[in-house]
Amino acid sequence: MKLALVGIGKIAVDQHIPSIAASDQWELAATLSRHGTLDGIDSYTDFDTLLNTHPDIAMVSLCLPPVPRFEYAAKALKAGRHVMLEKPPGATLAECHALTKLAQDNGLSLYATWHSREADKVAVAKAWLADKTLLSLKVTWKEDVRRWHPNQDWIWEPGGMGVFDPGINALSIVTEILPVDIHLRDATLMVPENRQTPIAANLAFYHPRGAEVSATFDWRQVGDQIWTIEAVTDQGTLTLLDGGARIMVDGREDALVDNNPLSGEYPRLYANMAALIACGGIDMDLRPMVHVSDALALGRRVAVDPFHD
Ligand code: NAP
Repeated sequence: MKLALVGIGKIAVDQHIPSIAASDQWELAATLSRHGTLDGIDSYTDFDTLLNTHPDIAMVSLCLPPVPRFEYAAKALKAGRHVMLEKPPGATLAECHALTKLAQDNGLSLYATWHSREADKVAVAKAWLADKTLLSLKVTWKEDVRRWHPNQDWIWEPGGMGVFDPGINALSIVTEILPVDIHLRDATLMVPENRQTPIAANLAFYHPRGAEVSATFDWRQVGDQIWTIEAVTDQGTLTLLDGGARIMVDGREDALVDNNPLSGEYPRLYANMAALIACGGIDMDLRPMVHVSDALALGRRVAVDPFHD
């Protein structure tokens, strides 16, 4: 199937383009970006022109920041194209619901991708936790914003989500591996006094069976980067490390083996999208985004030092 890639920024270049090139299911037929082009691929700056010129493009994959994404997604669906959304799937929950309805009304596939769910050890962690009693779960997501988001002003603007941009990856794993739904009960958001979005956040969740569930996100980490989820159960402790790439049970690494034949988060996302189209499906799991929305609604804001890139 032919696809168009919209928003040629960091993630498009780092992950989408190599994953599409390596896929035998997808062919990159066009790109849209106001500044970026790709050698040998039709490049556009106007989306209507792209859609009108390429009626054979079946799917549009959107790698823009969340705020401008809705208009592109809606336009693509109205033009009869399937749509794949980078995380987070939109700037607001209401616009995500509107996209779901548009896809349903037009008989098209729509996929809210959560790349961290495709990390190697997430499926085995989910299977291991399924028959255990959870006592506590602690997320620690600490990274250096200057290293991962250099000069990306949109993350500091309303809708950019700040530290929840990576934090939502952790929440996408938590909502995938826990057998029951949790909801936010308390949050503190550290917001630089010259910015609109948090640089750090502490979250506490209600768990229906009484487990203590918490998350710490921090973008001020220098040195070692930490993306860890530790789940203590009645039958041992499971730790996901490096954002789900590694797993330990009671301190023993690789006690659990994954059987996924396709390697890499983004190749799996593109394979999932092809499978979704083949069965006429829609996959819009908005639970990670609900937690972020709730934190932004419920969170107590604390002003912290200004942030300069
Ligand atoms: P980025 O480097 O800033 O790239 C986004 C691209 O979107 C820009 O190059 C820009 O290209 C285009 N764009 C920005 N604002 C636009 C607007 N108002 N209208 C049209 N196009 C616009 O950001 P990114 O890191 O690739 O992130 C994009 C999305 O991927 C985000 O939702 C992010 O959460 C997600 N993501 C990022 C990473 C990562 O490590 N960076 C990892 C996973 C997921 P032009 O200016 O050329 O149009």
